[in-house]
Amino acid sequence: MAASTRSCCCSVPGCSTSGRRQPYLSFHAFPKDETLRKSWVRLIRRDEGPSFSILRGSTFICSLHFNKESIYVLESGRKRLKANTIPTRFPWNNWGDDQPRRWSVFDRNITICNSRSEQRERAFWNSNKKQ
Ligand SMILES: [Zn+2]
Repeated sequence: MAASTRSCCCSVPGCSTSGRRQPYLSFHAFPKDETLRKSWVRLIRRDEGPSFSILRGSTFICSLHFNKESIYVLESGRKRLKANTIPTRFPWNNWGDDQPRRWSVFDRNITICNSRSEQRERAFWNSNKKQ
């Protein structure tokens, strides 16, 4: 789903951005791919359940949590995420600055059933580690 400046706020705990106050940010819906979506939920330290449910059109993560390289801009000016992008920048990892130390921890915690998605995700994570 396309990012929209009308979306209300960010689902990441500790992040209180809003499209109204920060119109320069883009807000991105959770991926349709279930494996990837679960990775997102885990990465933002939430569990899908009564206290947190992902609603299409109203549950977003703001662009602060993604690497700049993961976001591209359409001719219309709308911002989109590249395929298989995962959020990596959070208040608890100093907005990505702690990344090299944290990756191994995240890596171990990831369990994926779908082997094709796992390969895809591993490739993505490995390419991230090199940066
Ligand atoms: Zn945010």
